Amino acid sequence: METIENVEKNIFEKIRDEEAPCELVYKDKYVTAFNDIQPDAPIHVLIIPNKKINSLNDITEEDCDYLSIMLLIAKKIAKDLGIDETGYRLITNCGKDGGQEIDYLHFHLVGGVPLGKMISLPKPSKKILKEIMDNRETKL
Ligand code: AMP
Repeated sequence: METIENVEKNIFEKIRDEEAPCELVYKDKYVTAFNDIQPDAPIHVLIIPNKKINSLNDITEEDCDYLSIMLLIAKKIAKDLGIDETGYRLITNCGKDGGQEIDYLHFHLVGGVPLGKMISLPKPSKKILKEIMDNRETKL
């Protein structure tokens, strides 16, 4: 039976609590890591703290243990999956412009192919960027 508590949980809370399926990559007291359901690269692992933190905007000094362990586990997973030498990228999306879809702090660990440019702006944003840069050059 679903309790009110369950209804209010989002998908990452459910994965953390083993109430929703995932391809688990790593789990300990502090973090849970699982494969992204729609991978953007051959390796695309999501790493979440076991404490619910909505986004990078919401971290506090109290979260330092979680955050440092998330980084250490990212490094460990990269090594375990054999991309530590070839390289990889660790991303966290924050808020609307950052493209954050799920309100639960997570790192994307992506690799397994050359990842290209760091940011790939959609067309409308490219236009805005050009306007801003043109404006800057005029002012200089
Ligand atoms: P973001 O846009 O940074 O919030 O990233 C959310 C990510 O979660 C996306 O890459 C989704 O593909 C991924 N995602 C959503 N639902 C699931 C799920 N049930 N299991 C694994 N990954 C998921």
